[in-house]
Amino acid sequence: YRVKRAGGGHAAFQRQEDQRATQQVERLTALHRAIERDELRLYFQPVVQAESRAMVGYEALLRWIRPSGIVNPLDFIPLAESSGLIIPIGRWVLKEAVGVLNSGAVQEVCVNVSALEIRQPDFVEHLRWVLEESGIEPRRLCLELTESSMLEPRFAAVLHEVHSLGVHTALDDFGNGYSSLTAMTSLPVHVVKIDRSFTMDIGEGTPGGVRALEVVRGIVAMANAYGLPTVAEGVETPEQADLLTQVGCAYLQGYLFGRPEPLPLR
Ligand code: C2E
Ligand code: MG
Ligand code: MG
Ligand code: MG
Repeated sequence: YRVKRAGGGHAAFQRQEDQRATQQVERLTALHRAIERDELRLYFQPVVQAESRAMVGYEALLRWIRPSGIVNPLDFIPLAESSGLIIPIGRWVLKEAVGVLNSGAVQEVCVNVSALEIRQPDFVEHLRWVLEESGIEPRRLCLELTESSMLEPRFAAVLHEVHSLGVHTALDDFGNGYSSLTAMTSLPVHVVKIDRSFTMDIGEGTPGGVRALEVVRGIVAMANAYGLPTVAEGVETPEQADLLTQVGCAYLQGYLFGRPEPLPLR
């Protein structure tokens, strides 16, 4: 009886695996067509200055609008990365963001860039071309790079080239992986974005919240010592916003100030 059950369980597991594989293939086929079918959209989430709470810019966040509903990036960016589709998708994101800047709908925008995009030998050349084509002021654009990009052999070179174009850069999800100290100390980065996992943990009501705040205070102080302002991600409560402001975060971003929304922005 036991053996039979175990066997049945295995068959069920195999069926589930097969279904998953089929779903992945279907999704990849659909993702291939997403650009030509005009199913990708940029949503925009505000970033505010901590002291004044004045809006200073937006982060562009990708959404895939499917007939079955809206798909969030965490559910398709990994597939886009492993299949290489992130390259045309990333180019679409850049073109779209620059178009939005050109339209005057937003003054400054940050776009997220994957490590695989950085790896392309023509990444900076393409960026330069898009900027020239549009004529926008390069410093209105900011590229957000994560710690996984730091593992790319050309990471430092790309940062310097991007910097020389006048485009700003942000170190995204800071603290959420390998140490990025070297990026802070020696690379032309404009701002450090402290990962949401830190923001989530701070506050008097949260267990360990006081200690978590001290960790954030340390990160902010270290960044500031290198002349880098910080953005706290994922700010959801007024208490978090106040504490982050007190420890010296220059900018705040999170649902408290606005969720990612499609254009036109109110
Ligand atoms: P990220 O760059 O760290 O973006 C912040 C994520 O946190 C976004 O999720 C945003 O919607 C979410 N968020 C913002 N404020 C709050 C908050 O107060 N509470 C909570 N719970 N969440 C908040 P989203 O839009 O699902 O994007 C997830 C990740 O996907 C991004 O993380 C980024 O790494 C990646 N991504 C998004 N758009 C692009 C893109 O155009 N290209 C690439 N390569 N990656 C992208
Ligand atoms: Mg980001
Ligand atoms: Mg982030
Ligand atoms: Mg994050």
